[in-house]
Amino acid sequence: MTVFWHRRDLRAADNRGLAAAVDDADDTVPVFVFDDAVLAHASDARLRFMLDSLAELRETYRERGSDLVVARGDPAAVLPALAAAVDAETVHWNADYSGLAQDRDARVADALDAAGFDTDTHHDAVLHEPGMIRTNAGDPYSVYTYFWKKWRDREKPDPFASPAGSDLADTDAIAPATLDGGAGDFDLDDALCPSLPSIEELGFADPAADVQSGGTAAARDRLAAFCDEAIFSYESDREYPARAGSSRLSPHLKFGTIGLREVYQATEAAMAAAKARDDAETEGDANAEADDAEADDELDPAQESVRTFQSQLAWREFYAQVLYFNPEIVSQNYKAYEEPIEWRNDADELAAWKRGETGYPIVDAGMRQLRAEAWMHNRVRMIVASFLTKDLLIDWRAGYDHFRTHLADHDTANDNGGWQWAASTGTDAQPYFRIFNPATQGERYDPDAEYIREYVPELRGVDADAIHDWPELSDAERADLAPDYPDPIVDHSHRREQALAMYKRARGED
Ligand code: FAD
Repeated sequence: MTVFWHRRDLRAADNRGLAAAVDDADDTVPVFVFDDAVLAHASDARLRFMLDSLAELRETYRERGSDLVVARGDPAAVLPALAAAVDAETVHWNADYSGLAQDRDARVADALDAAGFDTDTHHDAVLHEPGMIRTNAGDPYSVYTYFWKKWRDREKPDPFASPAGSDLADTDAIAPATLDGGAGDFDLDDALCPSLPSIEELGFADPAADVQSGGTAAARDRLAAFCDEAIFSYESDREYPARAGSSRLSPHLKFGTIGLREVYQATEAAMAAAKARDDAETEGDANAEADDAEADDELDPAQESVRTFQSQLAWREFYAQVLYFNPEIVSQNYKAYEEPIEWRNDADELAAWKRGETGYPIVDAGMRQLRAEAWMHNRVRMIVASFLTKDLLIDWRAGYDHFRTHLADHDTANDNGGWQWAASTGTDAQPYFRIFNPATQGERYDPDAEYIREYVPELRGVDADAIHDWPELSDAERADLAPDYPDPIVDHSHRREQALAMYKRARGED
């Protein structure tokens, strides 16, 4: 018997650790443990997504004559007791690359070892685990572009099969009654949850946001729909928040409701389809065929789009390895400045930013989308993050905390990477003096103000030009056009100068 511990991999299909646990014994018992130390960092939106995904996963196992054991407690106590109760030899799980998770996993491994059980950790959450892709000198990459080239050219693993009913322990063998007892003072029975706890029982509330559905079926639907169409225009659409240009797979990738190998395989199938279309279009056209043969590496726009999407998956793996090798960046700047950055940290401005009432329409639309959907478009995440750090001069950690509270897809590595990029404290070569102008960004990426009007109802009756000019209008004009929408809380040009001075001081240039 083996035990497989599900964590950020809430699926049976294409699960490397589960496949290994199944290979390692006649029967496998799958388990999920609600750990209060982890719940302390959770949020309503993420709990909703997670509980939906767990309900589906439990159903998947039940359909195969097995069950997902669900417990609440310290995994370092639950897992040895469970392994003893089902007479398992080894407990398997998939690696999690954040510092907190690694500390916990080391503690759990020690407890299992002390109780006489083996442990086996697998790399599942990424296609190429941290440390696999290194510079020629053997160091981990701190520059994405080079990382991406090596990531792209490396062979990718195939998806892992989903276990059959015969690979899994049958329900009787893992019914709570037979799990009685446990190790030492710990009573496993007390920790087991015969039914999934409700969101309230876990200390959270149903989120105000309309969180997208969890579970593998929903993830597969999204992936299939995206790879059928939007992936072919991803390159041209992804920057425009009013277009449904991206996959919205992020909460699924965060909770592992779908495997990365399965996702990558679908993108490769899309690449092949785009290539076949391109070949069919050029067939019979001798010049085009000759061009094609010459430029083997050249991709047509549809293929280029698929490639760009794959490069986003590589960003995710880049940030995972940055966090893995630098766990301290979860609360510290990656980039060392000579002096501490003297953030302004005005509490009222932070509150206005959080409410989406800064008087900068694209910023407010993004902050309101976050509250409404527990998700925000990538371009707008960049804009609101730049606004917080470089217009309000507020420490990126305050923005990161707010995102962590509200995003269904909050992922320590990606969230941290995104915030430190925006704050010019991260891995990126992005110089501190490149500061987004929020009005120009709104005009460029939401030219018709469709996205803005969707999330900022006060501006629905205002034409796009006036929306983009909002900071430039007079008080009287603003009051006339949209009396309920706030005036800009700061002057961008003035704050830009202050931000430049702040970074110069931190660089010791003052
Ligand atoms: P798609 O464009 O469809 O991309 C597919 C997948 O690639 C995403 O689901 C994600 O897993 C990965 N990806 C895409 N862009 C990035 C990126 N820039 N960095 C890392 N991975 C990427 N992403 C998160 O998953 N969780 C976060 O908590 C998070 N916080 C962010 C905070 C800031 C300030 C910024 C600027 C970006 C953040 N991102 C985060 C990255 C990005 O915004 C989201 O991954 C993306 O918007 C999710 O939407 P999607 O699934 O439709 O993306």
